[in-house]
Amino acid sequence: MLSPPGNWLPQAPLNPLHLDWLTAADIQVAILRLDQIDPLISGNKWFKLIEHLHAADHAGADGTISLGGAHSNHLHALAAAGKRFGFNTVGLLRGHPQDTPTVKDLQDFGMQLHWLGYAGYRARHDPGFWLPWQAQYPTLQAVPEGGGGLRGARGCMSLRDQVTEQLHGLGWSDYDGWWLACGTGTTLAGLVLAETGDHPVYGALAVPDDHGVAQQVESIVREGGLANPAYELFDACRGGFAKVDPLLLAFIEQTEQASGIPLEPLYTGKALLALKQQVEIGTFAKGTRLIFIHTGGLQGRRGFTSSP
Ligand SMILES: *Cc1c(COP(=O)(O)O)cnc(C)c1O
Repeated sequence: MLSPPGNWLPQAPLNPLHLDWLTAADIQVAILRLDQIDPLISGNKWFKLIEHLHAADHAGADGTISLGGAHSNHLHALAAAGKRFGFNTVGLLRGHPQDTPTVKDLQDFGMQLHWLGYAGYRARHDPGFWLPWQAQYPTLQAVPEGGGGLRGARGCMSLRDQVTEQLHGLGWSDYDGWWLACGTGTTLAGLVLAETGDHPVYGALAVPDDHGVAQQVESIVREGGLANPAYELFDACRGGFAKVDPLLLAFIEQTEQASGIPLEPLYTGKALLALKQQVEIGTFAKGTRLIFIHTGGLQGRRGFTSSP
């Protein structure tokens, strides 16, 4: 079995987020801490994996094979799940062998690694790409990069329940929308499917416009059978994916000091800064209550800063 045992139900805490710029605008935000679901497994990447692991069980696989970079949150979650639940994992990595904190964890978790180079990794969408890997690992199920697609999105639908169950503890009777970082838009698509129009989902794009996030979301939502999706995308990438600038870093440091919540610069830091900008230009009416998702990714930031 690759799926977690039925008694393993990760619960992401939902906490009020107090920051001066929110108070000044009379906007309330609660943060759903996907970075705190488990000591080993973290972030939205776990939720994106759930349905892929069910599918692997269904196919009778005894493990999974997937792809990612040397800081990949996806491979990290997959390797951690393999260690935790006792299934085999193989990771196909972009580029040439390097030692990053992520790669060290992957090895410690028992993931078998193959480095594809850059050209080899670019070929991952070619028709014959998986054939030699399937021949070498016939009992493993392939999981798409990042845990994407409708299966990835379906795994994220349970996030709505996590919030619904905890609203009362915040003293909220309801909320007015979600705000979260988007890379492929899979997590956002899952929320859109779960909400079926009840609450809008706002996505802060950590990648440039030309990455086709909107098309990706549309295609997942259509495949999921939802006719009237309620979501909106905002630019948050600040010049490119993984581009970091002094204003962003200063904002992250201030926010961490004010809230005690760790952020990373690729996704959660950019998403929260984009929210601040929208709040300051009056995008949200006074009294608006938003759920901000901390999508995790803290393991990856070890590769970008000197902190452990
Ligand atoms: C992968 C990732 C995202 C983006 O998720 P998508 O489902 O691809 O949009 C956001 N935040 C973090 C920390 C991630 O690792």
